[in-house]
Amino acid sequence: MIPELLNRIAIQQGDITDLTVDAIVNAANTSLLGGGGVDGAIHRKAGPELLSECRKIGGCPTGEARITKGYELKAKYIIHTVGPVYRKSGNSPELLQNCYENSLRLAIENNIKTIAFPAISCGVYGYPIREACEIAVNTTIRFLTDHPSIKQVIFILFSREYFDVYTDYFSSHSNNG
Ligand code: ADP
Repeated sequence: MIPELLNRIAIQQGDITDLTVDAIVNAANTSLLGGGGVDGAIHRKAGPELLSECRKIGGCPTGEARITKGYELKAKYIIHTVGPVYRKSGNSPELLQNCYENSLRLAIENNIKTIAFPAISCGVYGYPIREACEIAVNTTIRFLTDHPSIKQVIFILFSREYFDVYTDYFSSHSNNG
């Protein structure tokens, strides 16, 4: 992979709600009215105005994305995307890829230069981490190649185990050209 691209992708372990970036991505559900996991953490920290704005949006289909303000977060925006519930056979990979692409597209439309993603669908929605990681990284690399305006994409993993999966995949990918 070309070094310029490598510099635009970072992998970190931590809490996405702590990040100072233009936008964080929320692994939401189709109602956009909050839930558990990263969704709950984002709503708790952003404050009640986030729920009011989400109510006005009126939901989001799986694979699509919607943007709101970040309210009490350090991030200026929240991009809410709805990952697929994992099924062994079916269109889960396409839908997960759509989540990354549509989130990045919204970022460009809103002049967002720095954006952080959690491991979408890898909690309650049951997506196997290694498969999801490949989709996340490959889709992002393709997108960044065509869209120079995005300066930094951070993949932020809550657990050490998931952080290691991303780090392993990313380093093998970048060594293989
Ligand atoms: P989904 O319903 O899409 O599976 P979850 O919120 O259940 O979404 O989980 C998605 C991933 O986000 C999981 O790997 C979970 O460990 C992680 N996660 C939970 N809270 C946070 C947080 N505050 N920051 C970053 N990642 C988080």
